[in-house]
Amino acid sequence: MKLTLWTYEGPPHVGAMRVATAMKDLQLVLHGPQGDTYADLLFTMIERRNARPPVSFSTFEASHMGTDTAILLKDALAAAHARYKPQAMAVALTCTAELLQDDPNGISRALNLPIPVVPLELPSYSRKENYGADETFRALVRALAVPMERTPEVTCNLLGATALGFRHRDDVAEVTKLLATMGIKVNVCAPLGASPDDLRKLGQAHFNVLMYPETGESAARHLERACKQPFTKVVPIGVGATRDFLAEVSQITGLPVVTDESTLRQPWWSASVDSTYLTGKRVFIFGDGTHVIAAARIAAKEIGFEVVGMGCYNREMARPLRTAAAEYGLEALVTDDYLEVEKAIEAAAPELILGTQMERNIAKKLGLPCAVISAPVHVQDFPARYAPQMGFEGANVLFDTWVHPLVMGLEEHLLTMFREDFEFHDAAGASHHGGKAVAREESPVVPAETAPVATSDTPAAPSPVVDAQARGEIRWLPEAERELRKIPFFVRGKAKRNTELYAAHKGVCDISVETLYEAKAHYAR
Ligand code: SF4
Repeated sequence: MKLTLWTYEGPPHVGAMRVATAMKDLQLVLHGPQGDTYADLLFTMIERRNARPPVSFSTFEASHMGTDTAILLKDALAAAHARYKPQAMAVALTCTAELLQDDPNGISRALNLPIPVVPLELPSYSRKENYGADETFRALVRALAVPMERTPEVTCNLLGATALGFRHRDDVAEVTKLLATMGIKVNVCAPLGASPDDLRKLGQAHFNVLMYPETGESAARHLERACKQPFTKVVPIGVGATRDFLAEVSQITGLPVVTDESTLRQPWWSASVDSTYLTGKRVFIFGDGTHVIAAARIAAKEIGFEVVGMGCYNREMARPLRTAAAEYGLEALVTDDYLEVEKAIEAAAPELILGTQMERNIAKKLGLPCAVISAPVHVQDFPARYAPQMGFEGANVLFDTWVHPLVMGLEEHLLTMFREDFEFHDAAGASHHGGKAVAREESPVVPAETAPVATSDTPAAPSPVVDAQARGEIRWLPEAERELRKIPFFVRGKAKRNTELYAAHKGVCDISVETLYEAKAHYAR
């Protein structure tokens, strides 16, 4: 048992629903209890789809416990086939049904419908939503795709875009555009927009673009074996990654890289003098593995931030994330516990958080700027406007999105210069944090009982340092306290903690102005 309030991912059958809802002419039947249709809302409200998801439930309840439940599943399969006449169906268990004895494979085979019914294995107590989507897509591709002769012109498949995918709709459009500029057409985009008959034609493409490893990698690997199709390893999020992706495509196809950069604005926006204040801003990045790896490269190499924390909630991507984090001298945080994420953010003391809907809430609590880079996301991140993350327009979108929540350079300057001003005082926050935004409360300058939050510079607890602070042996002299207040509010917390750590290490109990500057010099080294 684990006490859980927020979950980054749903159960695996929600992943199966994401694949089914992405597709056309396919019906998914889930063996589940009454009430499980709650997941419909994700599609009709968050993604604002105008049709009910193509998912039916056997909907058993307490009075059905006994042998009836297998019959309910059989009836649900037969009814779904009779009503929707799909080209293919899939059948799976929800978490509650996993505890029952009914075998969806045997039941669907006994029914002997005239179309393929693909049984899915979704271990609800050990795997999650992304696995559910990846495995459902793999099982469908394995059941339907066959080796074929290649198309006369160079074509590729786009793999991994699903329903409820963060910006999948516009990423598909943007990647299609990038490929068209190189003279490459899309054969099938799947599962998003594809029918079972389209999956049967996957084999005629020359190669596959793996858009999202979390939801498409197993199918890409299967097609590599079954249809001898190579698949791309670079995800084109960020200008550098997009260029590497196009180079990879060129290597696969033998076609020269051709780009249309007439509307690529991000590099000049980042290079322009107005962006100088972004240099070295401390950023903490959390989300799914793919988006975090891409975001770190953009943050460090394209915008000039300092990446101070990297992590993902999906352990399927732990290995590539660890490799990527090592490049920035960081240890990847792999957790699905938002409290651990919150602790890591506090310890890293960033000036900007890039994360999911959860990190947005953490950022609000800590009074820090934040932008969303990855699912899970709320309704506002399924926008009406064109908003890709991939390709050149994606780079434009990302620049605007990330810079927007930061206190703009001039405003930052004013906040520091006029900290006593009625309008620009410390607690006023940035204008676009909301009219009545209040900066986070500072902990009292003399921490009496509270132990300080660990930072990356902190020795592992328990230590004499923490003890000394916890016992309240460290005090700030009034003059040092006044000097501390001169430090801009967004870095003051870190300066305060570092000084206290320094003082404790040196055995100094009263922090003077000198101690403050000695600590500053010490950490600058
Ligand atoms: S635990 Fe699983 S089966 Fe039960 S209601 Fe939730 S999602 Fe449905």
